[in-house]
Amino acid sequence: MPHPDTTLNALHTRLQPLRRAALCKRQLTLSDIRPLLRDLGAQPIGESYEGRPIERISMGHGPLIILAWTQMHGDESTATAAVLDWLQLLRDAADGEQAAAIGLPANWQELVTLQVIPMLNPDGAERGTRENAQGIDINRDALAQQSPEGRLLWQQVQSLRPSVAFNLHDQNPYYTVGASSEPATIAFLAPAYHPDKHVDSARLQAKQLIAHMRKVLAHWLPNGIARYNDSYSARSFGDQIAGTGASTILIESGAHRDDPERQVARELNVLALHAALQALLNEQAREYTLADYYAIPENRSDGLCDIKIHQLTFVPQGREAFQADVCILHKGADYVVDFVGDASNTAGFVEVAGHGKKYPATVHKGGDARALLDFLNH
Ligand SMILES: [Zn+2]
Repeated sequence: MPHPDTTLNALHTRLQPLRRAALCKRQLTLSDIRPLLRDLGAQPIGESYEGRPIERISMGHGPLIILAWTQMHGDESTATAAVLDWLQLLRDAADGEQAAAIGLPANWQELVTLQVIPMLNPDGAERGTRENAQGIDINRDALAQQSPEGRLLWQQVQSLRPSVAFNLHDQNPYYTVGASSEPATIAFLAPAYHPDKHVDSARLQAKQLIAHMRKVLAHWLPNGIARYNDSYSARSFGDQIAGTGASTILIESGAHRDDPERQVARELNVLALHAALQALLNEQAREYTLADYYAIPENRSDGLCDIKIHQLTFVPQGREAFQADVCILHKGADYVVDFVGDASNTAGFVEVAGHGKKYPATVHKGGDARALLDFLNH
């Protein structure tokens, strides 16, 4: 069904060939994105700990400064593909007619300056790790600033003075939308800049933009959008950048059923970013209230596991029989027991009935689940 806003619909349609063309994989490295960085005129702004270039793409030259960065965690590349999709669509909207088709004013480049860092942690990307080459989690380095990547991000914030900042991440696949068993494919947060979680005008605008993005995305994904916990974290960049007066928005890309490469979240990121840009230019987000933000269900951790076994009977030799659910996670090539007991709060991407089956041993958290799975398959 088409979106009632024809400009968002046009954007959605234009995304499809991009999604098929490139970057359709879960882990992106610098060499994967290099051709697009060249195409989009990226410029180096610094270097990683191991000397890889960190690049930034700029578009427009207007007074509204928007800064976005992705892959601060090296193993979180969904939004890297998304921002590169979005920037290609924006580049092709340089003339008035093309701009109007995707809902931007003809002179949008005179109104806004977009600054996008598509891969802040190229060393971690190369290794497939969250941390950088020093082993540091850059998103816990906002105060200590021991990582060159963290220092660079802070320097960019100081020199560009963005009024809107997008901090783009991936979350583990086990988050759900509130109490439901639906995976949180997208989660939003307007981070706090103080332990008391005050809302100043910049944070209000971030919450209004999130409420707007949620409304737009709900057309395509009514049950897959969540709101991240806003406990203050002084060591984290989002919270520190919110403290500079920028309307700061965290977007977490998450799982979607039967979508291991996270292409659904990739597409939704583009639609969300574009809807936010439209709303900043036409002030359409001002109609939203804090209640619209808090109406988004919470992003619940551990609401899902990879395999859930319901009500299996355990009959360890010489001990009393008992019934329990078992939650199993897929880690690399391994299957690992994550929980034994009453798992009524957790759903499985795959669910297996254990009724009537008697397993002749116990299993424990952290243990290998292969023997149990083999037993159930026979
Ligand atoms: Zn992250």
